[in-house]
Amino acid sequence: MRVVVTGATGQVAYALLPRIAAGEMFGPDTEVDLRLADIPQVIDKAKGTLMELEDGAYPLLSRVSASADRAETFKDVDWALLVGSVPRGPGMERGDLIRRNGPIFVEDGSAIRDHAATGARVAVVGNPCNTNCLIARHAAGAKVPDERWSAMTRLDHNRARALLAKQANARVSDVRKLAIWGNHSATLYPDFTNAEVNGKPAASVLDRRWLEGEFITLVQQRGAAVIAARGASSALSAAQALIDHVRSLVTPTPKGDCFSAAVVSDGSYGVAKGLVSSFPLHSRGDGGWEIVKGVTLDDFARAKIAATVAELEKERDIVKDLLAAA
Ligand code: NAD
Repeated sequence: MRVVVTGATGQVAYALLPRIAAGEMFGPDTEVDLRLADIPQVIDKAKGTLMELEDGAYPLLSRVSASADRAETFKDVDWALLVGSVPRGPGMERGDLIRRNGPIFVEDGSAIRDHAATGARVAVVGNPCNTNCLIARHAAGAKVPDERWSAMTRLDHNRARALLAKQANARVSDVRKLAIWGNHSATLYPDFTNAEVNGKPAASVLDRRWLEGEFITLVQQRGAAVIAARGASSALSAAQALIDHVRSLVTPTPKGDCFSAAVVSDGSYGVAKGLVSSFPLHSRGDGGWEIVKGVTLDDFARAKIAATVAELEKERDIVKDLLAAA
């Protein structure tokens, strides 16, 4: 498996790379050729990480390399994990961040089109990840079809699942059918109305007022709470989420459950076609996905989804010029 990780000197990558090398993402029978990609200014630091990966003597790590040249790092990759992007600086509005990072994802998408293996799949983590995925997908054009693209809302999914389990005094594995809808941002909607705890509707086990209020706010604000406590944004939980994200795509979804990722909308549930929005998904385990059909959404859920999708439409308008390039 040839895998490129961009932003290889960043803190998410530092928590992620050793776990890919150890086989946690692609399983114990798959050797990995790992490419560490970053910008020229920091590539020497990536070479330090490369040395550490070599020193780990991971049996599944068939090859590891580092380069600031996308023609090298994206060559024949099966998976592109796009983590690298400029972090939001003090006083920077979300719109500024979108404009600042958009061009990075035009380059990543073009590199995937020009260098990646036929059948390559992409997971976008760098924020704003939904819109960055939209940009990269457009830049890559027809060579890499819609079903190969995804952006990570799995950290939100994991946070919501863990929180529901804690509140219900249950195990995380007892919580099923939970899904994140929309944008990976403070407007995201964790749909508790279809979630189950030990096979019972979450809303029959937990107080609906808590679910509608505190629960949603806690999930939406969890990233900010981690930054406030740790002085840095989520990294080990983000690495865990990316491992879960890819594992959920490459292994069949257990019956009676779903997982969350942002994918290119086919117009389901009224989400405008082409937007990269989070949905409940199933996978057959071949890396592809399908949006779960027939989910019942009450007025509350529909209003929350409409709000987060409206934000995605606004973000798409901010980068309209970058989408015209394809
Ligand atoms: P970090 O600041 O530690 O690392 C950023 C990385 O991006 C560095 O390797 C840096 O060199 C690279 N980079 C900077 N400018 C670049 C450019 N112009 N082109 C390419 N790469 C560039 O950040 P981090 O904590 O590792 O987070 C990485 C990204 O992942 C951020 O955008 C963060 O917001 C995002 N993130 C998303 C989620 C999610 O749930 N989707 C969770 C955590 C982090």
